[in-house]
Amino acid sequence: MTETAKISDPHLGEPFLLTPGPLTTSYEVKQAMLRDWGSWDDDFRAMTVDLRTRLLALTGDSKNVLDCVPIQGSGTFAVEAMIGTFVPKDGHVLVLANGAYGKRSAETVERIGLRLTLIDKGDYMPPRGEEVAAALAADPSITHVIVAHCETSSGILNPVQEIADTVNAAGRKFLIDSMSAFGAVDLDFEELKYEAVVSSANKCIEGVPGFGFVIARKDALEASKGNCHSLSLDMHAQWATMNKTGQWRFTPPTHVVAAFLVALKAHEAEGGVIGRGARYTNNRDVMVAGMRDLGFETLLQDRWLSPIIVTFFCPADEKFIFSDFYNLMKQKGFIIYPGKLTVVDSFRVGCIGQMDEHIMRRVVAAAKETLDEMGVADASPPEIALIERAKLAA
Ligand SMILES: *Cc1c(COP(=O)(O)O)cnc(C)c1O
Repeated sequence: MTETAKISDPHLGEPFLLTPGPLTTSYEVKQAMLRDWGSWDDDFRAMTVDLRTRLLALTGDSKNVLDCVPIQGSGTFAVEAMIGTFVPKDGHVLVLANGAYGKRSAETVERIGLRLTLIDKGDYMPPRGEEVAAALAADPSITHVIVAHCETSSGILNPVQEIADTVNAAGRKFLIDSMSAFGAVDLDFEELKYEAVVSSANKCIEGVPGFGFVIARKDALEASKGNCHSLSLDMHAQWATMNKTGQWRFTPPTHVVAAFLVALKAHEAEGGVIGRGARYTNNRDVMVAGMRDLGFETLLQDRWLSPIIVTFFCPADEKFIFSDFYNLMKQKGFIIYPGKLTVVDSFRVGCIGQMDEHIMRRVVAAAKETLDEMGVADASPPEIALIERAKLAA
């Protein structure tokens, strides 16, 4: 496979995943999984060190304040590990929710048995600094605040800098679920002070699913000993063991780690967070412009669109049936994603993974062909969708 063919060819004839992880990975990433590794072996221990070091290098932590701890499982396991490890048993968490992932954090806090305060903004309205400041002023017992960086259920990029400034000014601790944004949207630690941030292998770094990781202040890791409600999700124990023996506490996803290292090297070669973010932004811009030309409308105004995933309203035309649209798009090689809005019908198109603007043009062409096949002449949404959208102005 040549350099230029890497992104432009469908991989092994499989459809492209226009989904926010698992996503379309490169041939090289898949190929890295074609051998077995002993988890106790020096070679694999060196791979774990390499992985942690490379991830830390993406945070702009020039003073060496942070450390990186990987943990087995999907992203949700890592979120639960972060909350369970960093929030002490008598802690009180303010969860800022504007979609499914924020709500999942709230549920996690409750399940662990920690005190929860929830600001629920509904399907997509962003939590703003002012209301966070008011909530913190009203309740001095709140110790931690958590928010989703990109709330993947709508694709909104939440104003994390504004929230971080507010949380830090109030002397509370900030946890970020940057699952779907880390590696493509800047999270410079010097600018944006946080206690811990969490992401996983199968999002913007473009690895395959199998583990998540937390990047946290070392002083917070040190202070977290004994907090965690769970044996397997205890990030402090994982950190201490890894530092002492170089090993993961329980069987690591060896092949996933090998693939992730190849993905990290490709990320670096692409220009790191800036380069990766630029490709995804271009993917989004090309795809959104093409879809708007067909009459589709985005849920969000441009200011709130993330370069990760975009929500479109389903067309008002009664000939538009999402399941048919989905299947016809799949036949053309593109797997899209159903929407998660409660008020109006919607679907989502992801911009992340091994895809570039040429692929995105083919996505738009496939959408046009599919509308023709379905007999949908006009992709514009119902009136109620535009009323809904007007609630969040630019
Ligand atoms: C993907 C994702 C998660 C984790 O989901 P899993 O299905 O457990 O991998 C958590 N938060 C956000 C914002 C995500 O995009």
